[in-house]
Amino acid sequence: MTMRLRFAPSPTGQLHVGNARTALFNWLLARGSAGRLILRIEDTDAERSTRESELAIIEDLQWLGLEWDEGPDVGGAHGPYRQSERLRLYESYANELMTAGHGYYCFCPAEQLTRQREAALAEGKPPRYDGTCRTVAAVEARRRVEAGEPAVVRFRVPDRAEVQFDDLVRGPVSFSTEVIGDPVLLRSDGRPAYNFAVVIDDASMEVTHVVRGEDHISNTPRQLLLYEALGFTPPKFAHVSLVLGPDHTPLSKRHGATSVAEFRARGYLPEALVNYLALIGWSPGEGEELLPIAELARRFRLENVGHSAGVFDEEKLAWMNRHYLKHVDVGRLSVLALPWFRELGFVASPSDAGLRYLADVIPMASGSVDRLRDIPVRLRFLFEYDAARALARPEVLKVLSENGARAVIAALADELARSARLDRERFRAVAARVRQRTGQRARGLFHPIRVALTGEAGGPELDLAVPAIDRGAELPPDSGIAPVRGCRERAAAFAATLEKVNR
Ligand code: GLU
Repeated sequence: MTMRLRFAPSPTGQLHVGNARTALFNWLLARGSAGRLILRIEDTDAERSTRESELAIIEDLQWLGLEWDEGPDVGGAHGPYRQSERLRLYESYANELMTAGHGYYCFCPAEQLTRQREAALAEGKPPRYDGTCRTVAAVEARRRVEAGEPAVVRFRVPDRAEVQFDDLVRGPVSFSTEVIGDPVLLRSDGRPAYNFAVVIDDASMEVTHVVRGEDHISNTPRQLLLYEALGFTPPKFAHVSLVLGPDHTPLSKRHGATSVAEFRARGYLPEALVNYLALIGWSPGEGEELLPIAELARRFRLENVGHSAGVFDEEKLAWMNRHYLKHVDVGRLSVLALPWFRELGFVASPSDAGLRYLADVIPMASGSVDRLRDIPVRLRFLFEYDAARALARPEVLKVLSENGARAVIAALADELARSARLDRERFRAVAARVRQRTGQRARGLFHPIRVALTGEAGGPELDLAVPAIDRGAELPPDSGIAPVRGCRERAAAFAATLEKVNR
């Protein structure tokens, strides 16, 4: 039997990483089993649902690389895939339930229900509809509805029954109907309630496995009772634990970033976030952690998903991101990193030559940072060279206070004044001549060269950094890249500024 899975977000905000993980688990199961994945938009809450949120969720899912086979954007044989476009269907099933005696009109005013609810909560009891309208005769109820009295349709939960199911993650689960109040099927405006719409949709979309957050587990018995009343075969259920913050409460705004969009904006790669989310509550075994999405899909099994909730650990995500940053194709990396270069003003609209330059210098930084946004920061020395500012830095002054450092600077400036732009070989030759002239070697030679040419006491290897500076200096003016000052000019400015400071 083909597995049919679905991800059913409510478009009422950004995609939370916990929901992204639910989507990912569904995706892994579908792809690992040659099954089908459905995207269904649960937008029956008209006040809170927006089209922007739907689009943002779709964009985030696509960014994560989780594509689906059926959905509002791609169509499919079981549509429409937005609940707001399926109202007729819910209405007809509600009528069917009424006719069979499983549904009834409820006229209880909202304020009364709220009061009862609050009273129950105050006593520490689970709120539950008290069944007032269960006994209103059907003819009487119809008369009141026809007279225009507002009413919801409720489902008549069987008395004193036990609802049991085998959760694929949590094992056997059972609920007594004593604790379940009659749920609303249709609100007074005709819109369906979640528990009703979800059953109609999962059944009519032929969903075989419902994999969702644990917060829905108490809805499942209500849904199973509806399956029974409607004569539908229920799917299998798997409730996965929630994603928690460091204090072990559900990850929320209080903890900082919670949405996929925020993590994207922090400079995480989709493959790192996917890999990280898959490991919250599931383990591929044998201490393995870094696995590409296709391998995750091959190994993922619901049986191996743990019961206990997982804590979201951004440090761990950053560690994974660092790994993936080392392996990303450099062309893709330059496109991904572009927004952060823009933000720092290092790039405007790059020409082809400008883009090639970025792709050329990025590997120098991407092997040693945690996030995309750290890449241009590490390459700041290319675009923001200023001798006076460099000479105000304590760590630079410390390098210059070493014996012989100033002689290295003077010799370097002198050699560069006569040298062509530096590639790696020419740089090595220049360094060799400075060594001959000053007798300085190793750190005594390269630390002063570094501070003079980059303005910083640390950074990427000089063999890479120096040629990158001079390639930048050769870029045409229309490259769309902030001007890069060449090594010759830097050494001259540094030596001159140092002279002034000296006097
Ligand atoms: N729209 C529900 C939610 O976002 C989906 C619940 C379900 O998967 O059944 O929580």
